[in-house]
Amino acid sequence: MTFGVRLQEIRARIRSACERAGRSPESVELLPVSKHQPLERIMEAMALGFTRFGENYVQEGMRKAGGLPPDALVLLGPLQRNKAKAALQTFAEIQSLDRPDLAERLGTLAASLAVTRPVWIQVDLWDEATKVGGCPEADLPELLTTLRAHPSLPLKGFMALPPPGDESAFRALALLRDRWQDRLGQALKLSAGMSGDLESAILAGSDQVRIGTALFGSRGIVT
Ligand SMILES: *Cc1c(COP(=O)(O)O)cnc(C)c1O
Repeated sequence: MTFGVRLQEIRARIRSACERAGRSPESVELLPVSKHQPLERIMEAMALGFTRFGENYVQEGMRKAGGLPPDALVLLGPLQRNKAKAALQTFAEIQSLDRPDLAERLGTLAASLAVTRPVWIQVDLWDEATKVGGCPEADLPELLTTLRAHPSLPLKGFMALPPPGDESAFRALALLRDRWQDRLGQALKLSAGMSGDLESAILAGSDQVRIGTALFGSRGIVT
């Protein structure tokens, strides 16, 4: 199956979920996730109008970025402090910010490089951080306070990878987003939902779904 055919299927799934949720299909951003996919697949997607791609690994992103227009890549995977500078140089946006010390490091480096990098806080409401990363709810205030001191890292919203099959997870995320939106007096987006669960995410109010295998097929190259 080609990217184009898979894309039609995904768009149809997004449309029907939006219909059920009483939302406009344009209110949901589709972010293709190209980790472990060769550059040619990204090119195929670019030919169909996509300009931004999610990647999980700094190394793999650095390799691909050379063959892509600037600002094409978004970081979704766990980030180590010692790769913070490379991440800022490779990715236009960072969705996996999950701890204050990393925010401090990224913010200081971004200021010294004179770059602005929108960030999403990856949250973990399910005690899964050891597996996939994410900021526990109790640590959010400190992380948000740290971020406020770093204008080079504007906050876009919350990203999460809820445990598969947990139907209540997306609603919990939507509530968390609403609470912090009120507290901060700032609009916050929610990035949740992947190939297997985009419908539940959209029904709960996700603004962005991150789709890998359902768009690109199974992941080939191993890094
Ligand atoms: C791999 C990955 C995705 C895409 O997952 P699929 O199930 O292939 O759609 C989305 N978000 C993150 C953070 C990922 O690591």
